[in-house]
Amino acid sequence: MNDANQLIALVTGASDGIGKEVSKQLAQKGMKVILGVRNLHKGQEVLDEFLAQDLNVELVLLDVNDEISIELAAVQINNRYNHIDILVNNAGIFLDSGPISEMKIKDFTSTFDTNVSGFLRVSQAFIPLLKRSSLARIVNVSSSLASLSNMTDENNPYASISLPSYAASKAAMNVLTIHLARELQAFNIKVNAVCPGLTATRYVNTPGAQPVSVGAEVPVKYALLDANGPTGGFFDRNGSVNW
Ligand code: NAP
Repeated sequence: MNDANQLIALVTGASDGIGKEVSKQLAQKGMKVILGVRNLHKGQEVLDEFLAQDLNVELVLLDVNDEISIELAAVQINNRYNHIDILVNNAGIFLDSGPISEMKIKDFTSTFDTNVSGFLRVSQAFIPLLKRSSLARIVNVSSSLASLSNMTDENNPYASISLPSYAASKAAMNVLTIHLARELQAFNIKVNAVCPGLTATRYVNTPGAQPVSVGAEVPVKYALLDANGPTGGFFDRNGSVNW
């Protein structure tokens, strides 16, 4: 049953990694969490795991590259709850594998389709539902690799990491975060970009990477900002990240 005081969160890419853990932590904090997944079989396994822990979760098919799946998800959630309070744009990919001079343009456009157009499609579809919340938040899961300040400071450890399509896509996400935050301020919707930090997930096995339980903390924090919290910013666990 729908409790009028129940906060509702939608997380994209909730079937694995940071998105799965963000979903779990938000549900542990009392949210109703809708797990947006592109693979229903994989999503069902996550749903079963969370339901066994008595978490308040449900599943929706949501492929950020597929406008129809996004529209159907929005209609389904609108019919059931009429609004959402939190949108975590977490789904993302990285396909970079070599220097920019050898980059496959197909990988570049695919990266942008998922990481930039994907989060915009989902945001546009759910803004009408977010506007019906009294305290709505959009969290865009970005990366410090997108910081122009970091990549142009030769003393910064991020400067030597070359993932050009990925970094460019997250920089575009950051630009659009600023624009969305400005447009949605009048509707009391806060929009921020966050970097979870280097986190051990299926494609990230870098020594020293933090566990997903830690990586999820920053997105969760900005999903639960109170009315005095910032909007239009870029944050990691230490605070503001230089653009
Ligand atoms: P991950 O383990 O690969 O998980 C990515 C999730 O996104 C999966 O659930 C995947 O679904 C989903 N996804 C991919 N394409 C999708 C699409 N078209 N539609 C819907 N869902 C889609 O990656 P992660 O490391 O947790 O990364 C999550 C986010 O954090 C990404 O935006 C990433 O850029 C960002 N990030 C990660 C790190 C890090 O160190 N891990 C650092 C900074 C930022 P499937 O399960 O179906 O494949």
